Amino acid sequence: MSSENDDAWPIVHVPGRPPVPPEQQLTVNVVAAQIEQPKLTNTIIRRLSQIAPLEDLHHVKRVKKNCLEGGKIQLSVILCLAPENGDFDGIPCDVKDVIGSYQLSPFVAKVCKYAALSKEEWVEQCKLWPTSYHQPTYNISGITGFSEEDSQSIVSFMKYALELSKSHGNVVVNAAAIVDPLSNQVIAKACDEVCSWQTPKTEVGAECGPQQVETSISCLHPRWWVDEQTHRISSFWHPLRHAAIVAIESSAARDRRLFPDVRYRDEATREECILSPAKSQAKRQKTDGTDVDNDDKNYASHGNGDLSSKPYLCTGNDIYLVWEPCTMCAMALVHQRVRRVFYAFPNPSAGALGSIHRLQGEKSLNHHYAVFRVLVPQDILNKAKTSITGS
Ligand SMILES: [Zn+2]
Repeated sequence: MSSENDDAWPIVHVPGRPPVPPEQQLTVNVVAAQIEQPKLTNTIIRRLSQIAPLEDLHHVKRVKKNCLEGGKIQLSVILCLAPENGDFDGIPCDVKDVIGSYQLSPFVAKVCKYAALSKEEWVEQCKLWPTSYHQPTYNISGITGFSEEDSQSIVSFMKYALELSKSHGNVVVNAAAIVDPLSNQVIAKACDEVCSWQTPKTEVGAECGPQQVETSISCLHPRWWVDEQTHRISSFWHPLRHAAIVAIESSAARDRRLFPDVRYRDEATREECILSPAKSQAKRQKTDGTDVDNDDKNYASHGNGDLSSKPYLCTGNDIYLVWEPCTMCAMALVHQRVRRVFYAFPNPSAGALGSIHRLQGEKSLNHHYAVFRVLVPQDILNKAKTSITGS
């Protein structure tokens, strides 16, 4: 592993949506009213939550509490969203009944449309109307900062991925390392295998022209294979074998080695034949236990190979990628239940975790990982470029 750049590399969280300066946050108008008799507060809120639930404003507190001079508390409650034309005649009849029953004096107030992403945003929001601030649903260590030890570990795994990406002679490719943070072990690693000149067995020669270099990072050019199909410059070609996908496959193969039950093994063989006919023979030999990795041996020697401790996909694991993944790879990592994604370089043409899309903030997905960018010094990239040109 590289010993250069012992200085700490900053690790920044990439939130699920672009951070909005507090003063530029979007607001919506609501109709609110002061409650003159505090003992009625609960009754009024119960009634309002039935007749006018604030569906898209769950982060907004229904009641605002003001401390007046002399220690007196003044309570205000949100009655409903403000009618679009601002005319109180447009207030729903049920809400009008509440206003009439409790002799409330409605007024229009502004509340923030979206939940705060940071404490700073939250403090600003509360100046308008109080909101609640929760850590993201993926309440994962690191979002609020890393310990010195964690930072060192993250940087060392990123260095590992960087070395991996440069391990293919004069072509730099994307590389992925899946890490079990509990044991601090790389459990699967892979590089792009879209073309034959990216596979480990390829002889590194002078065949690599500028066009290949330009398109060598599969996640940066996920549709390059369409052109490749017409030009067909390589003998082996697969549109899906991006580094992250190959690493996932390798991690699954490791699970099958460590937890071999018959049904699983049959499925594994069939799957491998479909995905990568050229490599299935070699992989089968590996699956048969003739060439298990050292970490597998450790695992087996500790007697953890019983099915009850079989991991569910990549639950709890981290992945280190040199380049920000494309949508296909990012989605595969959602399916794998990965816990954290670290990448070094953004992917301005097809990045799904900050550059073009932010899958980590997509509410409709059933799993969310936390995403971090490790700010790798520019000279590392320059060295990578140097090795691309083969000098
Ligand atoms: Zn990809």
